[in-house]
Amino acid sequence: MTETLIRSEIDFAADGKHHGFLRLPHSVHRSAYGWIPVPIVMIKNADGPTVLLMAGNHGDEYEGQIALTKLFRELNTADIRGRLIIMTMANYPAAEAGTRVSPIDAGNLNRLFPGDPRGTPTQAIAHYIEDVLMPMCDYFFDFHSGGSSLLYPATLLRCPGHTPEERAKLLALQKAFDAPYAWVFSGGGGPSTKARTAMGAAGRKGATTIMAELGGGGTVSKPILDLTERGIKRLLHSIGMLPAYQPDAARGTRELHVSGSVDAYDSGVFEPLKEPGDTVGQGEQIGAIHHPEEPWRDPVTICSPYDGIALAKRFMGRVQRGDCLYQIATDIEENKQ
Ligand SMILES: [Zn+2]
Repeated sequence: MTETLIRSEIDFAADGKHHGFLRLPHSVHRSAYGWIPVPIVMIKNADGPTVLLMAGNHGDEYEGQIALTKLFRELNTADIRGRLIIMTMANYPAAEAGTRVSPIDAGNLNRLFPGDPRGTPTQAIAHYIEDVLMPMCDYFFDFHSGGSSLLYPATLLRCPGHTPEERAKLLALQKAFDAPYAWVFSGGGGPSTKARTAMGAAGRKGATTIMAELGGGGTVSKPILDLTERGIKRLLHSIGMLPAYQPDAARGTRELHVSGSVDAYDSGVFEPLKEPGDTVGQGEQIGAIHHPEEPWRDPVTICSPYDGIALAKRFMGRVQRGDCLYQIATDIEENKQ
């Protein structure tokens, strides 16, 4: 049995609709016997798959946090076939602060799997998710956005799949979610993955997994939130968990590979010349870095090393060396019309 110190207030074997906290012991000056309250909810009814839906892996990514909160309030036990477990603020201290990483230990949850039950709070949360929750799961869906620094169009992310069966399952999930874009990784996933992400944890424990990037900039977009809520219900319907839901017609998804990032090598103020989804050509200027502190200096010209589209764009104006300005993606060849 796992050596986690986290105690769940909900019984994962109990039928019905349940809510409570994962209690992570955290003894501090103002609270000697205190604990960090990571919210967890569950609906269990009849036979069906076990699904973990997660948001707040990064604390400044909000569409998933809202969509999953609304979903739990909306669903009744009788609507569900199987067991639906939801974490709305997986790295609770980060989500409560509205920051990417935890203010307690600077932990980036999505870089700390498989975690450590005796480590920092973020490591202990990672360990609980990987060692306690993931082994129960048939499916794991993780809802991200670009966070404070990046902006994405609504994009599903997935591995290509290791077997024909896994490929078919992942493609079916992608079609069900029906985001405008899908970023298909060129490899990764599976039981031997060393990835330190939640998707890596799911792969190691045998859960079928996808994630999504849904907007960003530390804001909430109504069109993307609408698409997220619709997509989550379509996902659950597609795996038999929401039988009464009636999906509308699919709008279609453009499959992409990410060619690479375009990074800042200078400090200054970033002027983007492309928005997410815009077409870019190899060698084309896509941005500039200006130096308002020395207005007589020429700006630094930012060009794309690839043909494709601008997928993610830096949201913040100030940049320094090492910051990602754009992520450039290209259509997957076999799908080009
Ligand atoms: Zn994220």
